[in-house]
Amino acid sequence: MTQSDSAGTAAAGEPLVVLDHVDKWFGDLHVLQDIELSIARGEVVVVIGPSGSGKSTLCRAINRLETIDKGSISLDGQPLPAEGKELAKLRAEVGMVFQSFNLFAHKTILENVTLGPMKVRGVKKADAEKRGMELLDRVGIAHQAQKYPAQLSGGQQQRVAIARALAMDPKVMLFDEPTSALDPEMIKEVLDVMVDLAKQGMTMVVVTHEMGFARTAADRVVFMADGAIVEENTPEEFFTNPQSDRAKDFLGKIL
Ligand code: ADP
Ligand code: MG
Repeated sequence: MTQSDSAGTAAAGEPLVVLDHVDKWFGDLHVLQDIELSIARGEVVVVIGPSGSGKSTLCRAINRLETIDKGSISLDGQPLPAEGKELAKLRAEVGMVFQSFNLFAHKTILENVTLGPMKVRGVKKADAEKRGMELLDRVGIAHQAQKYPAQLSGGQQQRVAIARALAMDPKVMLFDEPTSALDPEMIKEVLDVMVDLAKQGMTMVVVTHEMGFARTAADRVVFMADGAIVEENTPEEFFTNPQSDRAKDFLGKIL
C-alpha cells in the first residue's frame, strides 16, 4: 500500500463496493432482486427510479442499516461486518446523508461535526475541531460554527450534514435524496458541494432525480424499478437514449 492510498486497502482499479447477487424481502415484498453492482474507487454512481423501487433500501444495505437475505456486500474487499466494533467502524467508513438532515439539535454546528471523530475514532478535541473547521469551511459554513442547527437554513444544515459525514474520513459517501426536502433556491448550494466532492475523487452513491447533477458529476446512472436494476449507462446515454420501457416511462414523467 502506498502512502497516498490512505483511503483503504484495495488496490487501485479494484472495486470499492461490491454487491453480489443481493436479495432482500420485507415479508412478501421482494425489495431487492438479485442486485449486482460494483462501484470503483472514485466512481460516482447516480441511482434513479420510481418511488418504492428500493433505492433507499439499497443505500441502507450498504452501511448495514438493513440486513440482506441472500448474496453478499463487501467494502474494500471485506464483507460487511454483522455487529460490534467492526460494524461501528464500517458505519464510520460509509458516510450517509439523508433527505432529512438529522443534525443534533442541541449541539452547535461544530459539535455536530466533531462528535463522531471524537467518540468513534478517538480523535482529540483540538484536532477534531481543527479538522471540523476545515470541513465547515469547505462546505461554506465556517462562519456559522457556533450556531445551532435550527438557526441555519435547510441548505446550510444539509451542508453541515455532509461535513459531518466527511469528518469520519469515509471511504464512500451515500446520499439518499439529499436535496428533495429543500426549497428550490437551496438545492444548488448542496449540489455544488457534492459536485466538488465528486471532482476531488470521492466514491459516491447518490440517489437523486437531479439530472443536472447526474450529467455533471455521475460516471454512471443506475435505473431501478421494482427492486431490480433495470438498466445502467452513462448519464448522457441514459437520459437521451433510455433502453427499457420502464426507464422511458419514468423519464417521461420527471423531465
Ligand atoms: P425508494 O427509496 O426507491 O422509494 P425504498 O427502498 O424506500 O424505495 O422502499 C422499497 C419498498 O420497500 C417500498 O415498497 C417500501 O414501502 C418498502 N419498505 C421500505 N422499508 C420497509 C420496511 N422497513 N418494512 C416493510 N417495507 C418496507
Ligand atoms: Mg427512498
